[in-house]
Amino acid sequence: MKRILTGLQPTGKLTLGNLIGGINQIKKYQNEFDSFIFVPDMHSITIEQNPIELRKNIISTIALYLACGIDKDKNTFYIQSENLYHANLSWILECNVGFGQLSRMTQFKDKSQKKINVTCGLFTYPVLMAADILLYSANFVPTGIDQKQHVELARDIAECFNKKYGNTFVVPEPIIPQLGAKIMDLQNPLIKMSKSAENEKGVIYLLDTEDVIRKKVKSAVTDSDNKVCYDSENKPGVSNLLTIYACLNNLCIIDAEKHFENYQYGAFKSEVAESIINTLKPIQEKYYEILNSNLIEEVLKNGYSKVLEISKEKYNEVKNKVGLGRIDFIV
Ligand code: ATP
Ligand code: MG
Repeated sequence: MKRILTGLQPTGKLTLGNLIGGINQIKKYQNEFDSFIFVPDMHSITIEQNPIELRKNIISTIALYLACGIDKDKNTFYIQSENLYHANLSWILECNVGFGQLSRMTQFKDKSQKKINVTCGLFTYPVLMAADILLYSANFVPTGIDQKQHVELARDIAECFNKKYGNTFVVPEPIIPQLGAKIMDLQNPLIKMSKSAENEKGVIYLLDTEDVIRKKVKSAVTDSDNKVCYDSENKPGVSNLLTIYACLNNLCIIDAEKHFENYQYGAFKSEVAESIINTLKPIQEKYYEILNSNLIEEVLKNGYSKVLEISKEKYNEVKNKVGLGRIDFIV
């Protein structure tokens, strides 16, 4: 069975963008593939985190995966930092990737521009991501458009390594949804909706209350046209709301447009807001139930022993090929 792998950073509260571009993709593929889903907490500390909040977010992310319908029996759940092989493999890969190659990563350019203290970790983050993927021989990585370049880097790293040291890594492929690969910020529809956004007003969090969702959608930036149609270049705000509606209701954009043909913006926004609320309400109810149960501990315990075995084997294969340590010494 082919394997897919996904991770959502515990950098904050998960957003509607993470649900549409990340979690809903896993839900779609969990019956077809051997699905690995993890919390990349080591990625989070590439930007400053409050340790208490970070730990809360790690657990909350697992609870949200489960509450969103990621099946505990069809997926393997784990926390990145609890398995030391990720960082070890990352170091070996770092020594096999060019500085120039990493300098071309657009997410580093975007994120580093917003920060005063730019860490080396933020720069090398895509290599750790490559290690996350290659360690488990993942065939597919479902992701939003923002991570496409990083998956391509992982492919390049795998191909170069295989060429230099002999066939070692599976070359992964990104799976990018046709619709909803980049949900935009409601206040600035020219930028991606992100959990680490500075302005919370433009971001729908999965745990937002009904009133907050209504307010955020009502104040979403649109235009003065008052015509609901898809035109991402000239009407980015309306197009984003249409995309959200289409994704949450399993429609194509044309059908979503037809549905809102005779709507004014006020009524259009109300219906989009209700659609978000109807999607998030059951998730929120389950989330609080899961937080108060033993389920999180159970899935992490099962996941940990499974991933440890797989990653140990792959890491030792790599270590031996590169010539580190003693050949018969298994770490
Ligand atoms: P951060 O701001 O900390 O980078 P993020 O919201 O970008 O957070 P990530 O943890 O980096 O979230 O990404 C998790 C997954 O969600 C990835 O697969 C990513 O492609 C997807 N994703 C993130 N934001 C969006 C979005 N706005 N639309 C669609 N998919 C998204
Ligand atoms: Mg991101």
